[in-house]
Amino acid sequence: MDKNKTLKDHRQIGQELDLFSVHEVAPGAIFWHHKGYIIYKTLVEFLRNILLKSGYQEISSPVMVKSELFKMSGHWEFYNEHMFNLLVDKEEYSLKPMNCPEASLIYKTMTRSYNDLPIRYSDFGILHRNELSGVLGGAFRVRQFTIDDAHHFIRPDQIQQEILELLSLTSDFYKKFNFKPHFYLATKPDKAMGDPKLWKEAEEDLEKALRSAKVSFDIKEKDGAFYGPKIDIHIKDSQDRDWQLATIQLDFQIPERMGLEYIDADGKPKRPVIVHRAILGSIERFIGILLEHYQGNLPLWLSPVQVAVLPVSEKVEDYARQVFETIKNEGIRVELDMSNKPIGAKIREATLQKIPFMCIIGEKEKTSKDAVVSVRTREGENLSVQKVNSFIQSLKEDIEKAL
Ligand SMILES: [Zn+2]
Repeated sequence: MDKNKTLKDHRQIGQELDLFSVHEVAPGAIFWHHKGYIIYKTLVEFLRNILLKSGYQEISSPVMVKSELFKMSGHWEFYNEHMFNLLVDKEEYSLKPMNCPEASLIYKTMTRSYNDLPIRYSDFGILHRNELSGVLGGAFRVRQFTIDDAHHFIRPDQIQQEILELLSLTSDFYKKFNFKPHFYLATKPDKAMGDPKLWKEAEEDLEKALRSAKVSFDIKEKDGAFYGPKIDIHIKDSQDRDWQLATIQLDFQIPERMGLEYIDADGKPKRPVIVHRAILGSIERFIGILLEHYQGNLPLWLSPVQVAVLPVSEKVEDYARQVFETIKNEGIRVELDMSNKPIGAKIREATLQKIPFMCIIGEKEKTSKDAVVSVRTREGENLSVQKVNSFIQSLKEDIEKAL
């Protein structure tokens, strides 16, 4: 990265690229504009495809539920200060701060056998957590957000294998963004529930998994969740800043509190273990990190607009429109600049909008016997005259490769 350029923060990039806004009427919540929401949906779709291949079932559960559920799960006792609670028809309700209790209810809807496990539920549900308004800021600290959350219901003998697979899933995901992961084992906090012996076993299981994954890790003393120890995964971005993204947490408590069971090979009911995990964490925050990491120059597959078609003058507008339609019909996200600005201004505008490719169309392109465009990148590189079809083909290959 060019150190001489001033680095922008995600709020400024978000505004300049028309991605999202925040408004005083909803502190700590993001209003996604069309282009920002494309980034959001593309990331979620990308994850969904990976998860489907990795044996997950996607579920969805209510945002507002009776507080009794969180009393049962233990969240009320240990997490209440961060929850939004409200009275509805004289009954106490909460906005869910986490998805686990509801995932547990779905688990409990039928008898589970030892050979049904692992059951992996992924959940992109909307969560609310009460952060102090003084610490809210853009997409980094929010009150309403979505985590790429998942809960794995497993047998105790499956812990190591399951954690190992998760470590490799997570590392693969980060490679896509050139993030280098670093691992931490977070141990029992002072405010914790459950038997200290179980805590110790769980910490040992996580440690064994980290060792067999052959990754180096540090210990975060007393930084575990109230229901179990966890592995936190941090990354460094292009500005060498450290971010915690992923977390993999072992939980022996919620299965107990929620009365979860499976029937073991000996025909007796046993308690499953829950693994709570998120790979990119809050999607809002992750997009904020990506915007700063790339300074808005998102990779082609994630860019809200992938191609800008820029006619040099009115005389070529018909042909420019034809090119625009051809590219659009191939599923590429494309914009057509029909303003009467000079071509230099159009190129500058598309460059500032961080659009990866520009198709510049003048008389020469229009009168060529093949359908052609002059391609320029946002980095200012001229890729010369290309046939429209082969340009589209190369874009598709680039996108395909990234996914
Ligand atoms: Zn959870």
